[in-house]
Amino acid sequence: MTASENVHQHEIEKFGSQAERWWDPQGEFKTLHDVNPLRIRFIQDYADLQGKRIVDVGCGGGILTEGLAKHGADALGIDLSEELLDVADLHGLESGVSAKYKKISAEALAEQEPESFDHVTCMEMLEHVPEPGSIIDACARLVKPGGMVFFSTLNRVPKAYLLAIVAAEHLLKMVPKGTHEYKTFIKPSELSQTARKAGLELQGMVGIEYNPFSKRFKLGKDIDVNYIAAFNRPL
Ligand code: SAH
Repeated sequence: MTASENVHQHEIEKFGSQAERWWDPQGEFKTLHDVNPLRIRFIQDYADLQGKRIVDVGCGGGILTEGLAKHGADALGIDLSEELLDVADLHGLESGVSAKYKKISAEALAEQEPESFDHVTCMEMLEHVPEPGSIIDACARLVKPGGMVFFSTLNRVPKAYLLAIVAAEHLLKMVPKGTHEYKTFIKPSELSQTARKAGLELQGMVGIEYNPFSKRFKLGKDIDVNYIAAFNRPL
């Protein structure tokens, strides 16, 4: 599969159509805002961000990309949605946080700039592409030997269907209806195996757990719904 084929155009349009509400902390993407400090803390457990060149694959409106830049990284966000990249750029102008954004696929950037990033992040994106393995492979090629690659996605077990789709989309209305499709979810074993084949070694994995009573997220042992993983590309 070539880079230009590894995209569901309807996914790009779906996310792009919600672009102007991306940065509303109480809006449709509240969940991404809420989990952002947790995922940055997880990343910092494995990687020093200060002055490091990091690419954020499938960056959307730049919630994570800006967070990385705020913590001292030289961050580049890439996505295929022009609307979202515009929102990310504009938000950077307003916040004064200098991240860069570019419309390019992970596969094409890996061709152009292999082994050029100290670390790579790719959050909540693998479940939206036809061939997640190709993105994992591209991330492994983008990172310098010795660097870290971080992924987060949703687990393909019935509990994730109940919580991430039935509860989050329909009952609690935490994310827009139609955001996720169960069959695209990825089991942790599949992620690790594909990453291993791409030359990455698993360093750690935790769940991003939601407590519906306190309405808070925390990192914990339960990887049955949403999880985040750290991989190393050995020297
Ligand atoms: N990573 C961000 C946004 C997640 S939403 C965050 O966690 O805050 C999923 C993003 O993936 C959307 O911005 C969508 O445009 C992007 N995306 C979907 N398919 C893509 C592809 N093939 N290449 C690059 N980005 C893609």
